[in-house]
Amino acid sequence: MPLFQTSPGMRDVLPPESTRRRRFFELFAEVVAAAGYGEVVTPLLEDYGVFARVGDATDLVQKEMYRFTDTGGRDVALRPEFTAAVCRAFAEHRPATPWKVWSGGPLLRYERPQRGRYRQFEQVNLEVLGSDDPMVDVEVIALGWRFFERLGLRQVTLLVNSLGTRDERAVYVEALRRYFTDNLDALSDQTVATLARNPLRVLDSQRPEDAALITDAPMIAESYGPATLAHFEAVQAGLELVGIPFTIAPRLVRGLDYYVSTTFEFAGGTLESAQNALGGGGRYDGLVEALGGPPTAGVGFALGVDRGLLACDDEEVFDAPATTVEVFVVDTTGGAAALAITEELRRAGVTADRAFDNRSMKSQMKAADRSGATTAIIVGPDELDAGEVLVRPLRADGEQIRVARAALVDHLTT
Ligand code: AMP
Repeated sequence: MPLFQTSPGMRDVLPPESTRRRRFFELFAEVVAAAGYGEVVTPLLEDYGVFARVGDATDLVQKEMYRFTDTGGRDVALRPEFTAAVCRAFAEHRPATPWKVWSGGPLLRYERPQRGRYRQFEQVNLEVLGSDDPMVDVEVIALGWRFFERLGLRQVTLLVNSLGTRDERAVYVEALRRYFTDNLDALSDQTVATLARNPLRVLDSQRPEDAALITDAPMIAESYGPATLAHFEAVQAGLELVGIPFTIAPRLVRGLDYYVSTTFEFAGGTLESAQNALGGGGRYDGLVEALGGPPTAGVGFALGVDRGLLACDDEEVFDAPATTVEVFVVDTTGGAAALAITEELRRAGVTADRAFDNRSMKSQMKAADRSGATTAIIVGPDELDAGEVLVRPLRADGEQIRVARAALVDHLTT
């Protein structure tokens, strides 16, 4: 028989790492629920057109989408990101604004797998729809920042930029196009191809041969009008007010075409540079409209769960919790007593595990030790006959005692 393995870029997550991932989601939910955000759950699969709105010139649309025709002949895609799906949901349901929501779960992108980059990965995502108040940008960024703090990460840096309005950005894109076209010889071949698709993407190039030209490229700030400037200054003042340190990154353009105005990125201090983006986001006023909804402002971010946990590994914080139970039941009389006792304990709220397969006393005691339980409940033939159990402390000093079977729950819970 063939030995099947996961496809490239796909991974299994086993305990205890899976417990840690779950706690990552739970902590995020806790942080943002405390700020008034509710969870929105959208499907894994949408009409391709929903995700096509993130931009024709993006890698995401050009190369990375898991797109197929379903049995009913629909052109569909597995979700590569949350924002477009959340905006589709907003346009469909028209909830009251500001609509403050979060999401979390798996996404799929056909990328070249490497450490911190997978074809199926997970994000937690936050969005506010229906307000263009710069204080919303600040709230969103602050929640991302506070979440990293709660994980225990100390080496996260925040980069912020503004891409201006759609029109201002268009002027800037033309300025970039002219600049790079005048200097084509100094660009790598791959970057020349990128330039033809979208001059903004050239700024993302990590190729050393492009670096000098990018450094001297026109600045987006030169295209800002007064409204953009006022918004960006208000965001910066807000971040200062709440004590969140940031760096202005005039070249930060992010990978998707829908961003306008504020954009930001959280970078991890310890991950290798190409994979150091823990997450990011920005404003996408206009995306809801592009999905058939009313003109609606929007701002949000996505944080990579996989990258976040790698950063935690590197900074040695947010450890995988040991999965332990309080009580381990050892039964050498066939297993029926262990069944009855674990059932009774679990119903009473005491966490309990047991051994199976009618193993020897020694083997069951080993299992009890591995389980992390603090107490073993032991039932041998004598105890069974007497209607009693032995209660043996496993971690602390103390005497083993004999307790009546009927009094066991009381003994353990009082
Ligand atoms: P994006 O949706 O592209 O803005 O990505 C937001 C965050 O998701 C990134 O900063 C990464 O932390 C994470 N991310 C994006 N793509 C991948 C991937 N292929 N594998 C793992 N994490 C990813």
